[in-house]
Amino acid sequence: MDCLFCKILNKEIPADVIYEDDQVIAFNDINPQAPTHVLVIPRKHIATTNEIADEDTALVGHMVQVAGKIAKEQGFDESGYRTVFNCNDHGGQTVHHIHLHLLGGKPLGWPPY
Ligand code: C5P
Repeated sequence: MDCLFCKILNKEIPADVIYEDDQVIAFNDINPQAPTHVLVIPRKHIATTNEIADEDTALVGHMVQVAGKIAKEQGFDESGYRTVFNCNDHGGQTVHHIHLHLLGGKPLGWPPY
């Protein structure tokens, strides 16, 4: 399967990994849009949030929990942060392996036009 994030998981492409466990890894985004911009990805290949199956709901919850723990480690859990799943073209998804963006470290604009 020609998936960029599966290649990162298989260590065929390097990434600045800051957290990993048996279900997910998290790494710094190569093109950060905030002082902290981390991607949390599942080891299981799921193309988009449309393909999240009933059996994956605990995994996706774990992704969100890991993002919150990283926010706490980085010291902006109280000031706040954003977590985002982009989906398909209108959502701006470029890599079709689900990933949770964690953005923080400054006040973030909204809405994201
Ligand atoms: O949600 P979207 O699919 O647009 O996000 C993909 C993200 O993956 C981008 O923020 C991009 O900078 C990041 N990326 C990365 N390392 C790569 C390729 C893409 O961090 N090797």
